[in-house]
Amino acid sequence: MSKYTLAIHGGAGTILREDMIPELEAAYLKGLQVALETGYAVLEEGGTAVNAVKAATVVLEDNILFNAGRGSVFTKKGLQEMDAAIMEGKNLQAGAVAGVRNVRNPIELAMEVMNNSEHVFLSGKGANDFAIKQGIKLEPDEYFFSQFRYDQWKAIRDSDNYALDHSREQGEELTNPDSYQDKKFGTVGAVACDSYGNIAAATSTGGMTNKKYGRIGDTPVIGCGTYANNRTCAISCTGHGEPFIRSVAAYDVSCLMEYKGMSLQQAINLVVHEKLVKLEGEGGMIGVDAEGNAVLLFNSAGMYRGFKNSDGYSEVAIYR
Ligand code: ASP
Repeated sequence: MSKYTLAIHGGAGTILREDMIPELEAAYLKGLQVALETGYAVLEEGGTAVNAVKAATVVLEDNILFNAGRGSVFTKKGLQEMDAAIMEGKNLQAGAVAGVRNVRNPIELAMEVMNNSEHVFLSGKGANDFAIKQGIKLEPDEYFFSQFRYDQWKAIRDSDNYALDHSREQGEELTNPDSYQDKKFGTVGAVACDSYGNIAAATSTGGMTNKKYGRIGDTPVIGCGTYANNRTCAISCTGHGEPFIRSVAAYDVSCLMEYKGMSLQQAINLVVHEKLVKLEGEGGMIGVDAEGNAVLLFNSAGMYRGFKNSDGYSEVAIYR
């Protein structure tokens, strides 16, 4: 039996201690802790990495604090369109969905695509039709409504801007700190190594506030926001999706390990702190290898994150 590990994230961005109120900070840490314990329990009971990452992601999708599932941001048209992907490192099986609406847990739909379709990636109405056919749980629009997300969207909906849900421009004045507190939410993801030495990754998001034209970020694109291969690593990313797509970020970490012999730490460090920075790719990623090592790195001010392993190490954190 090898060492088992779970790492999770709830988004990265301009998450600053000075902007945070204690109640909200406590709620985030609790949300992360519950997700971490839920996913870890799967590993502890001898479950698989893929089931552990799915379980942790479902908990985060159900938590309105995070930009995935229930707490998803609003598009230009005032809708929620969600993306998710899951991948297993032992056989390179993957499932992904983009632009789905009213699906309670997009990660479950991604898993269904992986396990019970001939395809890897479904989008829009077709993906929703597949969800209905497979009996995946749907929810009405009201389930996905939150006043703070709505206000956050209202502030930019008449512009061409789109935004990471928890970022503000460097030096931007905090005109209304109370409303700003509500803007710090994020994409969610998990990576795990199970006791059989198999690894898996899952990522789920509502994308970026005020996105339009059916914009899809890195999250559901295999190799960009999500990737897993037992020979190298399992990766889940968060941040400004476009640079992550252009740099094929998750797969780049895997390539650096496979072809250059880098460790997980060296490879993630190079991608997050050098390659993405050159493309103005604000964000971070979490990764595990098949020996149960975990790395959680970000080039933004903060990243909601957590990590627990069978050596008895456990931590949830937000800031640098
Ligand atoms: N990467 C996501 C996207 O671009 C957003 C995020 O991580 O918060 O859709």
